Amino acid sequence: MGLVVQKYGGSSVADAEGIKRVARRIVDTKKAGHRVVVVVSAMGDTTDELIDLAEQVSPIPSGREFDMLLTAGERISMALLAMAIKNLGHEAQSFTGSQAGVITDSVHNKARIIDVTPGRIRTALDEGNIAIVAGFQGVSQDKKDITTLGRGGSDTTAVALAAALDAEVCEIYTDVDGVFTADPRVVKKARKMDWIAFEDMLELASSGSKVLLHRCVEYARRYNIPIHVRSSFSGLPGTWVSNEPPEGDRPMEQAIISGVSHDTSEAKITVVGVPDKPGEAATIFRTIADAEINIDMVVQNVSAAATALTDISFTLPKSEGHKAMEALTKAQPVIGFDSLRYDDQIGKISLVGAGMKTNPGVTATFFEALSNAGVNIELISTSEIRISVVTRIDDVKPAVQAVHSAFGLDSDTDEAVVYGGTGR
Ligand code: ASP
Ligand code: MG
Repeated sequence: MGLVVQKYGGSSVADAEGIKRVARRIVDTKKAGHRVVVVVSAMGDTTDELIDLAEQVSPIPSGREFDMLLTAGERISMALLAMAIKNLGHEAQSFTGSQAGVITDSVHNKARIIDVTPGRIRTALDEGNIAIVAGFQGVSQDKKDITTLGRGGSDTTAVALAAALDAEVCEIYTDVDGVFTADPRVVKKARKMDWIAFEDMLELASSGSKVLLHRCVEYARRYNIPIHVRSSFSGLPGTWVSNEPPEGDRPMEQAIISGVSHDTSEAKITVVGVPDKPGEAATIFRTIADAEINIDMVVQNVSAAATALTDISFTLPKSEGHKAMEALTKAQPVIGFDSLRYDDQIGKISLVGAGMKTNPGVTATFFEALSNAGVNIELISTSEIRISVVTRIDDVKPAVQAVHSAFGLDSDTDEAVVYGGTGR
């Protein structure tokens, strides 16, 4: 039988009991005849606690030291997990990202994997070990500094290792039973999907669904590694994420809508009074790009005839808000706008589904649902298979619930169980 990569999230290994439960599951997989590589996250809220600590000693911690600190979280869980497995009478060895051959660029706190050379993992497997790898970290190619891949990056580690080791499947164990039609923490009647296409999963992930990270799904699609999202707390079959539904499970017609996602991690910046002439938007977004900030939605208003001035709004991660405001303020004399407005009390709701390309009325139903829920819309953006709106942050929950119902996605039972995690 083939090689399986399993990834366990922080809530699955939150305490000693959790680590022992996960160790038993890993040993069962090994006993079933598989070669097993495990990627593990830091225990519970360890990463958040380390971030809090860093911020207490320095308001803007050095990227290099910050990464060094955060990778300690995964080192703790990997070593404990290897011990727990050995205690069950099986051989296991733990490896840091660097030891496992995860090579990255040198952008601290959000490094990208550029190569995976898992020689030591192969050797460990050949010698009959279960290999345990610390998630979310690597080593930079040029400076040989320790890097981290950004929050939630362990999923990407798992898929990258699965691709490099030519694994049969990458199993991602989390604190819910799979991918749901909406966040089960918000919609009690969310339904678990048996299968979802990479394409739809990518849109859900980029619009706020936290079950899988966009980068991880992107990687899986590029190397065609099927992902199986499951709960480490139940024995239930989870959700397959792949190009094609599993054989024998092909629905007659593709569902119109896959799900509703939401995101409250973004802020909105409005550049007020921008001269309406060529090159202005270019200068604004070059300024943002040079500060290494990713933006999401962009909206430019029609300029007022009297002044020939316009407003440009865009959304970006709240965590980058300060940096963006600083960069734009510095560039104000060059760009020549009037003022900046910063708003972090916003949320985004998105409807995703490949079927919306060919089904008229999806947009109308979406806006009707929001209107019936009394939700005001501030920004709108669409792709071929997604509609997103920005609203006040307090409107997000009712909006998600209203849209989920309007598209008939509610399940008959409250089947969505959240097993762990503080949602922090
Ligand atoms: N421990 C890291 C985090 O909390 C990485 C991960 O969980 O994937 O973001
Ligand atoms: Mg985590």
